[in-house]
Amino acid sequence: MARYTDAKCKRCRAVGYKLHLKGERCLGPKCPLERKPYPPGQHGQSRRRKKSEYGLQLMEKQKVRWTYDLLEKQFRNTYEKANRMPGVTGENLLSMLERRLDMVVYRTGFMPSLPSARQLVRHRHITVDGRVVDIPSYITQPGEIIEVRERARKMEAIHTSLRRVKSANVLPHLELDKARLRVTLTAMPTREDIPETFNERAVVELYSK
Ligand code: SF4
Repeated sequence: MARYTDAKCKRCRAVGYKLHLKGERCLGPKCPLERKPYPPGQHGQSRRRKKSEYGLQLMEKQKVRWTYDLLEKQFRNTYEKANRMPGVTGENLLSMLERRLDMVVYRTGFMPSLPSARQLVRHRHITVDGRVVDIPSYITQPGEIIEVRERARKMEAIHTSLRRVKSANVLPHLELDKARLRVTLTAMPTREDIPETFNERAVVELYSK
């Protein structure tokens, strides 16, 4: 499968937004965005021109797409599905992205970053309602139970990551059972449940042109 090979931190600097793609590093002083809060490249510091409306929409779209670490085609397909659903397209889009299996695993805190959560899913360490699901883009539904498989329960990376998680701080639509390494999706995530500050309406405006 195609994947990005550029430095993840450059993406954060390009959009001026913490995408949290590097786990532990994102939380500490080693985060490059903390030290160099301007776009990468030779002229990064001098690139301060006012952005056009299109430029701003494009940047918002990149923020959302990179937060969920998707290729343009995957992201666009998700948008098209969200657009066909009843309700507000931007909110449908975020709800679907948050319900992706890799995102649920990451938000729960089983892994410290989305790429590592995706790897956990791909390596067949996760079940949904007792069935192994190794497709990161699988969209979970309310009531489904997502669990770490028996064979992966001793993985140090999972326990190190979970030690930083307080059950009370897990997003409202997720119910974590730390002892059993399982999480239940209790409801559809609403916009208020999602802690990202990007402007999803700008994405809809961009794609509606
Ligand atoms: Fe982004 Fe994390 Fe890199 Fe900071 S450390 S720039 S938040 S990927």
